[in-house]
Amino acid sequence: MPHILIAEDEPRISGFIEKGLKSSGFTTTIVQTANEAISLALRGGFDLMILDLGLPGKDGLAVLEELRGQGEQLPIIILTARDDVQQKVAGFEGGADDYLTKPFRFEELIVRIRARLRDRSLPSGGESMILQVGNVQLDLRTRQAKVGEQWVELPSREFILAEMFFRHPGQVLSREQLLDRVWGYDYDPGSNIVDVYVGYLRKKLGSSLIETVRGMGYRLRNG
Ligand code: CA
Repeated sequence: MPHILIAEDEPRISGFIEKGLKSSGFTTTIVQTANEAISLALRGGFDLMILDLGLPGKDGLAVLEELRGQGEQLPIIILTARDDVQQKVAGFEGGADDYLTKPFRFEELIVRIRARLRDRSLPSGGESMILQVGNVQLDLRTRQAKVGEQWVELPSREFILAEMFFRHPGQVLSREQLLDRVWGYDYDPGSNIVDVYVGYLRKKLGSSLIETVRGMGYRLRNG
């Protein structure tokens, strides 16, 4: 049973994560400070760490730096309210394996945890980090898209939406499903935000990539 270390000082959030992970068959340990996170991670016995950036004592980025500096290879997913490109870049440069911004859906977190655990069990890694349909690729590690030979920048929400489509090629996804999985709990179901973002993806990744299925939702063209 994979053992997940949760470094998070807000009990409401760590409780939410722990509850979900336990019901998905994981074991969990919660720590609330940067120093505890460092000492437990170094002590070993964990398969992955979820690391909040705003921890008391030390910044989560400093935790990451210290662990990587000591050669600790534990997969780390950063969890933060800072939806900020600079922080994201700093996190990846500091050796984080993935990055998730609050508020988030639990499904989003579990997909990322499973992906990171899977990478670790692959002999060479790499191949599972790229999702491809037609000439469009999503690189899950750098969170960038590539159309043909052209790299395309996708802001966080657009990337998550694209990832949802690429994980379900050929499948119709309803607006409600997309709203729920990508935007989370605080959105009005009557909102047209999904349509607006599908428009952004079409503009950036190709106008025929995502089809409208009248009265049902959207579908990623399969190959
Ligand atoms: Ca915090």
